[in-house]
Amino acid sequence: MHGTRRLIVLSGPSGVGKSTVVADLRRRHPEVWLSVSATTRRPRPGETDGVEYHFTDGDQFDKLVASDELLEWAEFAGNRYGTPRQPVLERLDADVPTLLEIDLQGARQVRQAMPEARLVFLAPPSWDELVRRLVGRGTESPEVIERRLAAAKVELAAESEFDMTLVNTSVEDVVRELLALMNVS
Ligand code: 5GP
Repeated sequence: MHGTRRLIVLSGPSGVGKSTVVADLRRRHPEVWLSVSATTRRPRPGETDGVEYHFTDGDQFDKLVASDELLEWAEFAGNRYGTPRQPVLERLDADVPTLLEIDLQGARQVRQAMPEARLVFLAPPSWDELVRRLVGRGTESPEVIERRLAAAKVELAAESEFDMTLVNTSVEDVVRELLALMNVS
């Protein structure tokens, strides 16, 4: 039995600000461990292999899936993303507060695999605000933005599946609530 109560899964639509929240949380509390996912998406400017993601090609990703090395994985807006299992189990065994920042399909798989994990839904203050953030990021083509907005509609409809919702009106407030949930002070 792993200390799965230490596991927080943060999910919510693309553009809602999950990465900003997570970056701020870790700046304040580096002792919280954030899982680094594998992805077939190409790096954005400024992203480094092994930091934001382990960037892989399709063949490497196939191998991770075939050898059951991923705790969960999903296809999102044309790319695949997955959580390496072993590092997560090691942290939970050591009772380290552990954070996954993953999409809705992944959150559902974690719920199945680890029912004690706590699933947190990060919601935008409004739909218009989500569109504004996703477009304003300026890193994606119009086609990719369309796909992500379509995915966001599906994700927003699944909010009730989560243990709790935090509305991202202020990064500071969301971080404070997450830390309280993790018993980190
Ligand atoms: P992005 O391409 O913007 O970095 O991430 C796209 C989506 O994939 C986000 O909703 C992000 O939370 C999700 N994601 C990142 N890593 C994983 C993962 O390991 N598994 C799953 N299921 N989703 C992930």
